[in-house]
Amino acid sequence: MKILVINAGSSSIKYQLMDLTDVHHYTLLATGLVEKIGESTGRVTHKTLIPGHESQHVEDDPLPSHREGMSRVVALLTDPDKGVIRDAAEIEGVGHRVLSCGEVYSDTVRVTPEVKAAIREFFPLGPLHNPANLMGIDVAEEFFPHAPQVAIFDTAFHQTMPPKAFLYAVPYDWYTTHRLRRYGFHGTSHKYVTQEAADYLGLPLADINLITIHLGNGCSMAAIRGGKCVDTSMGVTPLEGLVMGTRSGDIDPAALEYIMGQTGMDIHQMINALNKAAGLKGICGVNDMREVVAAAADGTPLAETALELFAYRIQKYIGAYMAVVPKLHALVFTAGIGENSFPVRDRICRGLEHLGVRLDAARNEAPSREPREIQQADAALKILVIPTNEELQIALETKHTIETS
Ligand code: AMP
Repeated sequence: MKILVINAGSSSIKYQLMDLTDVHHYTLLATGLVEKIGESTGRVTHKTLIPGHESQHVEDDPLPSHREGMSRVVALLTDPDKGVIRDAAEIEGVGHRVLSCGEVYSDTVRVTPEVKAAIREFFPLGPLHNPANLMGIDVAEEFFPHAPQVAIFDTAFHQTMPPKAFLYAVPYDWYTTHRLRRYGFHGTSHKYVTQEAADYLGLPLADINLITIHLGNGCSMAAIRGGKCVDTSMGVTPLEGLVMGTRSGDIDPAALEYIMGQTGMDIHQMINALNKAAGLKGICGVNDMREVVAAAADGTPLAETALELFAYRIQKYIGAYMAVVPKLHALVFTAGIGENSFPVRDRICRGLEHLGVRLDAARNEAPSREPREIQQADAALKILVIPTNEELQIALETKHTIETS
């Protein structure tokens, strides 16, 4: 089944066209990025990935709207030279990554007017993402009128958390009236690596107990008990939890009032700073982990401090989640940093030996793109590196939803 996966942002559309049967049998036909929509000059980067016919095509010119961006995508996908399909009607389903639907849906759903209304309801809690995600759906409905549209929510996998994990200890009507609670994000990735870890370990999903550690541009962890999420580090927004590239993660809320008083920042400037000027960048000036690791290796003191904070916060969450996940099978590292940065994995695991975390240096440093284990041979607790694939998970769920609804 040919599935188009779309991740629409406020000024961008990421897409992948896949032909898939199941998690082990799929072909990535094309992938691309439309960016700088609404700016003076836009860019479309389109890659054809059919084996033997790989090519890349870049177009630079203004893209006034998501509609214009999507029309370029359709033109490129169906182009006689650069394309991979003859007609847009060959696309049998479109899967959309959507940030949040709160508690309304705990699973992937086919898009209906009610689903769109739910996405709209959560604009105030996902102001950067939900409006753009909905725009992506509207535009895709226009260009692929025969294909079912499916919404995959980043919050859905975390809906199994119990109230003691998702409630904040604040006046209860903040939850009942204003829906304030922990929702968690990166759910598609945590779900994908949970299933992959179960397959890798040869255990039924319903029996698997994990701590999944997604370390990419954004970072989050999840405690998985019996294959289900029982806690996660991100909160009502993706700002809570771990130290990230540019986000602070956990901070005393009273610190905001104090610094606002000292600097004259208003609350919007403050939240913007905590999202965009904090984290690794706030401490050492750069947010790409490769640069932070290189600067620390060169002896830059604040890069070293940034790495220490980054690893220490994760260690604390590992300790906390070990307390809530009995009979833990494995720690699972994933996403850009988790999959690729052996020095960061080393820093996180070093010092946790008393918790049974025993990393093997040679296994940790061996490069690979495959799911693998990196603990010492006789260690009881496994440490896995599992490459995530959110687009594949979205495509699989889109296919499943179309076939079953
Ligand atoms: P993601 O959001 O999963 O695409 O992850 C992106 C982040 O992964 C980048 O910002 C980098 O900091 C990080 N990253 C990617 N490759 C490496 C690497 N080889 N070493 C360290 N960090 C990496």
